[in-house]
Amino acid sequence: MTTETLSGKPLAALIRGRVQEQVRALELEGNRPLLAVVMATADESTRWYVRSIERAAERAGVDCRIIDLGHEATEQVLAGVLRDLDAEPSVNGIILQAPLPPGVPTEGLVGLIAPDKDIDGANPLSLGRLAVGQPAFAPATARSVVEILDHYQVPVAGKDVVVVGRSAVVGKPLSLLLLGRDATVTLCHSKSGPLEKHTKGADVVVVAAGRVGLLTGDHVSAKTVVIDVGTNVLPDGSLVGDVDEASVNGTAAALTPVPGGVGSVTTALLLLHTVEAARRQSSPVPLLTGASGVHVLETAG
Ligand code: NAP
Repeated sequence: MTTETLSGKPLAALIRGRVQEQVRALELEGNRPLLAVVMATADESTRWYVRSIERAAERAGVDCRIIDLGHEATEQVLAGVLRDLDAEPSVNGIILQAPLPPGVPTEGLVGLIAPDKDIDGANPLSLGRLAVGQPAFAPATARSVVEILDHYQVPVAGKDVVVVGRSAVVGKPLSLLLLGRDATVTLCHSKSGPLEKHTKGADVVVVAAGRVGLLTGDHVSAKTVVIDVGTNVLPDGSLVGDVDEASVNGTAAALTPVPGGVGSVTTALLLLHTVEAARRQSSPVPLLTGASGVHVLETAG
């Protein structure tokens, strides 16, 4: 059988178009959106990724400020920078880029990014809001998966969807977004046992584990749509996902490529979230305020 390739590139182009439209509208009001990315790593692939966000932002008309604190930055320094950015009115969106220096905990730091600037859904408050169905920015990667399924008109309501990986940045928020779309969601992890038990009968399988070749043709059936979130850099420098493309191609109904799948949409969504944040922050109409005193945002899912 033929497995359809679900490229992320056409969707990413559509989203970038929406970003440019919104940037033009903001500029008419005298505003220019600004995204701040805080990083503290020497990891080359992360540094490359941050540069790719910067280039995409420039092309879309979003200002991007990279704050590179070096791989020896302390928690105190990072916290101070995040507090300053949070207090700066011209900054609309903030990303704290992982990984952080060894020993520096992410949890407390992401909590310093107010939900209305938390355009990559990193603050536990954002995840909590998603969990109870309140508006919040979802992590861009999790939203990418839902947007790809929507773009290719893959139904999820009433369908069996398996997510492999339960991290707070991908698997958990994605399962919440899919639940919100009335999917029946199974969340697998490293202790779930043989994956095929869960994935073989699934309508949609999303793999976000960071394990090369984790999902093979033996794990899926002819009806399965497979979304590969994994990004693994091989020793030769090439990028592969978590899916064994050779065996899944020809077995499953459809598959997203790596590169050119989820990752391309993620970057575009980070910019869309930034302009959405800018629009709300510049709104003459007071933003709704939740019980906790933080702004309530439009659902980003
Ligand atoms: P993570 O925090 O390391 O989490 C990995 C998850 O996979 C964990 O829940 C782990 O289970 C599970 N897992 C590991 N081995 C497994 C196995 N053999 N069977 C079933 N589950 C297994 O990773 P992450 O940050 O979520 O990222 C996951 C992947 O997505 C990585 O490749 C990352 O590079 C990629 N990613 C891509 C994008 C993008 O835009 N394309 C963005 C973010 C991340 P336990 O919880 O039991 O340990």
